Amino acid sequence: AISIQGLRKSFGPVEVLKDISLDVNHGEVVCVIGPSGSGKSTLLRCVNLLEQPTAGKIFVGEAEMTDPDVDIDGVRRKIGMVFQSFNLFPHLSVLENLTVAQTKVLKRSKSEADTIARSNLERVGMSHKEDAFPAQLSGGQQQRVAIARSLSMTPDLMLFDEPTSALDPELVGEVLAVMKGLAKDGMTMMVVTHEMAFARDVADRVVFMDGGYLVEEGHPDQVIGNPQHERTKSFLYRVL
Ligand code: ATP
Ligand code: MG
Repeated sequence: AISIQGLRKSFGPVEVLKDISLDVNHGEVVCVIGPSGSGKSTLLRCVNLLEQPTAGKIFVGEAEMTDPDVDIDGVRRKIGMVFQSFNLFPHLSVLENLTVAQTKVLKRSKSEADTIARSNLERVGMSHKEDAFPAQLSGGQQQRVAIARSLSMTPDLMLFDEPTSALDPELVGEVLAVMKGLAKDGMTMMVVTHEMAFARDVADRVVFMDGGYLVEEGHPDQVIGNPQHERTKSFLYRVL
């Protein structure tokens, strides 16, 4: 579903992504791990062109994101993105948060949008809060609503950038459980995370980045359980 080929990204004179090639297949969960500043967020942001790559090609489905003629808004609609901060619309109810883009962007009818929204609220265990406003919810609940909002756009794939990093420790589990459910349902997912237990348990593949390089990738048992590279070993030694 995603093919990244020879991706490079520089900010001014500093190259922060160095010749990254990576495929994420349909239905696959790929977790990206690595130290702060290694380029994980930049990699994810290049996939939906929130950052413009300096070189290389990125395909999402059939579309080449890096083709200047690509219908970027059309392709972006198929990509859900969930960030560390939940970014819900504070003045809209939970249900309205899930329907507004469906009606405005996808031109779905109000009743169709409501139906889709409610099924996604159920999926994340938030049906009982459809009339609540974001400020009335815990961080974990807000993040689950944010995931349901992304899902309501019926994306082909989901990108997560440290979705649990802003949460109090006791709220992390409920969000990871929702993500685990999505993975089980066959969603294609690229997940930047520091949750090694989640990566080990849920990822089909783990990618370790350091200093803008994709250092090592493979099955979690291999990359986390039996890393080959010194840099991966020292990173895991620090976080595990
Ligand atoms: P973290 O774990 O802290 O989120 P990360 O692996 O996501 O780190 P990135 O945010 O991708 O790292 O940043 C990679 C490098 O690119 C860093 O050195 C960062 O300072 C730099 N960088 C990121 N965005 C920009 C920008 N808009 N302008 C200049 N430099 C940037
Ligand atoms: Mg980051």
